Amino acid sequence: MPDRAEERNWVEGLFRVLGTGLLGLWWSRPSAMRRRLARRRECTGCLHRYRRLMRLLIGLVWLQICGVVVLLGYGVQVPTCQPPVWSTAADAARYLTPGSSWVIPTRQVLTSGNSGLALAYSQMRRAEICRYAPTGNLIASMHGGFARGGTMFGQTFVTLPRPDYTYPEIEPVVRHEARHTDQWALFTVLGGPLAFPLSYSVDELFAPGPYNHFERNAGLAGGGYVLPEGM
Ligand SMILES: [Zn+2]
Repeated sequence: MPDRAEERNWVEGLFRVLGTGLLGLWWSRPSAMRRRLARRRECTGCLHRYRRLMRLLIGLVWLQICGVVVLLGYGVQVPTCQPPVWSTAADAARYLTPGSSWVIPTRQVLTSGNSGLALAYSQMRRAEICRYAPTGNLIASMHGGFARGGTMFGQTFVTLPRPDYTYPEIEPVVRHEARHTDQWALFTVLGGPLAFPLSYSVDELFAPGPYNHFERNAGLAGGGYVLPEGM
C-alpha cells in the first residue's frame, strides 16, 4: 500500500511540470520519483534540498497564476493600437487587421503568466497599453523601467512611446518582438517560465548585443541592432 509521501508524488510532479515544463515531466517519471523518495528517507541534506526546491517551484507557479489572473482580468479589455492619423488608408488597414495564424493564440496561452506580470508592472508605472492587432501582442508605452529601446516579456512589449510610427516603420519592430514571443513560448514549454530569460541572459554574457543568438534569430535589423561586418 502506498504511504503518504508516495501519494504526494502527483503534487510534486504537477509543480515540477508547471515550474519547469518538459524538463519537469522528465524529472517526474515514476522511476526518478521513487529514487528521489528513497534518497530523501536516508539523507537529511537531500530532504532539505528537496523542500527548498519545492518552495521555489510553488512560489514560481503562484506568481505565474497571478500573472494569468491579471492578463484575464485586464489584458482582454486593452484597446487596439490605433495607427497615426496621417497613415495611408492601406497602411491603417494593415495596422488594424488582426493576425489569423494559430501561432498567435498558442503563444499567448503559453506565455500568459509572464505577460500578465509584465502587464501588472506596466500598469504600476502608468504605461499606456494597447494591443497591436497584426501580432496580437500588447504594447506598454512608458518612459524608462526597461532595458534598451524596449523589452519583451512573453507577449507584453514594454517600450518607449512611439505614437508617430507608421505601419512600415513599426512592422519590422513588432515582427522582431513577436519572434521573441515565439522564443518565450518555446522555452516555457521546454523548461518552464524562467527558461527563456535565463537562457537569453547566459547567451548575452557570452554573445552580447547583435551576437546574441536569440536576437539574431529574431532579426537584427528589426531589433535596431547594427549588423556587425561579415554577418
Ligand atoms: Zn530583440
